[in-house]
Amino acid sequence: MSTAIVWLRSALRVHDNPLLDWAHRSEETDSVIPVFVLDTGRGMGEKGHIGPNRMRFLYDSLTDLDDRLRREYSARLLVLEGRPEEAIPLLAEELGSTGWLLCDYQADPRSREQIGEIKASVSQMGVRTKVFPSVSTILDVEVAIARPGFRDPKSSSDIGAIMGRNLGEGPDGYLVPPPLDPAAEVKFETEEYDSLRGSESLSGLVVTRGEISRRVNDLDTGEPYFPGGEGEALDRLRRKVSDRPDFVNGFRKPATMSTNEAGNPLEPSTTGLSPYLSTGCLSVRKVWEECQKANLGTDHTKPPQSLIGQLMFREMFYVLSRSVENWDDDVGNSNCKPIEWGGHDGELVSAWERGMTGYPYIDAMMRQLEATGWMHHLGRHAVSCFLTRGQLWQNWKHGRDVFDRKLVDSDWAVNNGNWLWLAGVAPFSMPYYRVYNPCPDSKSSLNVEAKEASFIRHWVPELASFPSKYIFEPHLAPEHVQEDAGCVIGTDYPSPIVDRKESRRVNLGLFKESLARIA
Ligand SMILES: Cc1cc2nc3c(=O)[nH]c(=O)nc-3n(C[C@H](O)[C@H](O)[C@H](O)COP(=O)(O)OP(=O)(O)OC[C@H]3O[C@@H](n4cnc5c(N)ncnc54)[C@H](O)[C@@H]3O)c2cc1C
Repeated sequence: MSTAIVWLRSALRVHDNPLLDWAHRSEETDSVIPVFVLDTGRGMGEKGHIGPNRMRFLYDSLTDLDDRLRREYSARLLVLEGRPEEAIPLLAEELGSTGWLLCDYQADPRSREQIGEIKASVSQMGVRTKVFPSVSTILDVEVAIARPGFRDPKSSSDIGAIMGRNLGEGPDGYLVPPPLDPAAEVKFETEEYDSLRGSESLSGLVVTRGEISRRVNDLDTGEPYFPGGEGEALDRLRRKVSDRPDFVNGFRKPATMSTNEAGNPLEPSTTGLSPYLSTGCLSVRKVWEECQKANLGTDHTKPPQSLIGQLMFREMFYVLSRSVENWDDDVGNSNCKPIEWGGHDGELVSAWERGMTGYPYIDAMMRQLEATGWMHHLGRHAVSCFLTRGQLWQNWKHGRDVFDRKLVDSDWAVNNGNWLWLAGVAPFSMPYYRVYNPCPDSKSSLNVEAKEASFIRHWVPELASFPSKYIFEPHLAPEHVQEDAGCVIGTDYPSPIVDRKESRRVNLGLFKESLARIA
């Protein structure tokens, strides 16, 4: 019997799943073991460093996938915990048969190294490895960067040209292949699965459903605003995109509100699909298809502002993360000017992370991140600018790490790319001297609802009774106003950790001097 280990790395779904589709069609496989490895080397699992919301999202997604496989295919998901370099070969050995290892391509260096090592090790057992490109992305990243004439994209039009060359273009845009339907069948042998779960060699690695439930309880996140899983992903896609063609056709990212939907301080004014895309609960081709359906035969916004434009930025960062050496570093990275940031200041970074800077807009955003694992794109702009070239003069990598731990949409390629962008160090960055005011008003390009200021009141409850006039800069309120509002600045809520104007002036000078030294 020939078994295919279907190692789902970032494809926690049955729709548009080329691995399950191939295994179903292949005459060379008699059975399939879908598997996910909680990679302890990346901080996953019980003792890992990944934050509770992000971990909860992952556990929920695994539970949802297992339920779906059970319901629709009478199959199961095998969840292992450990280093994939050890877990996958052990699994292959336990299966004891010449078969297949299927997995989705991941562009980051560690994943590429990992699969190289695993492939070498399982091939000695007669197991063939097949890595599927274009599962997390539209483009085949390896093919795109190897194509003659490839140059690192710096803009929406650059990535557009790359997509055109790789996919072709028709009257309605790039010829993005449609998403695959769910496989008609998953060849699953319950006995094989049971014997693996009961095997001695895997006993320390198997994570049961009961164990996942226990861990979810221990995480103590409360009901998450973004529940993980393909079911939630498809439901959100329908609610936010498919059922709202006018929203899609009029979508202009820079015009969306950073303080979320009026009346709901938790609901994104954008789609809120990022957690589902980054875990692969949702296929990017599926989102693209739904946007194109809305666009067909009617006026609509265009990249870079449109929704399609956002998906193109995602492709751009995946491509760059593969073509640029040391994408996640500030040394040896051709897309990162080596600015001499200030030394790590634990107190400043911690105040920023905990939402205790004394700047309510920044603090509200950081507290939303802590509580839900998500933040609007313009909020991310503001807090990353504040931490780096704006006010705190800290290396962008400190903020990147906080985001990586906490974001439910944490994505290595995209997170690093956006931090490079906002720190002002990348070829695609805005001019470094364009700094956001952390105390925005209703005219700010950060698009804040300033009249009721309900977003601030919700996330910074100390200021719940503060008059809107002062709520974005409460330390400027006269003492009697602070007392009447039940929040004395410096006692009930922090005074600003830095003077925003002075720190901006000093930091812009330092940035300029640093640039001059590089030139
Ligand atoms: C400092 C910083 C760090 C970020 N880190 C991440 C991250 O780890 N993971 C992540 O998915 N996004 C990240 N982003 C990009 C962006 O903020 C989020 O993708 C977006 O806010 C998610 O909300 P949405 O799904 O409603 O987006 P929408 O506006 O509805 O866009 C649809 C999809 O397009 C993609 N997208 C949108 N904006 C971008 C962008 N600027 N770059 C790449 N793809 C984009 C996302 O997959 C998103 O789900 C970061 C942005 C900044 C400024």
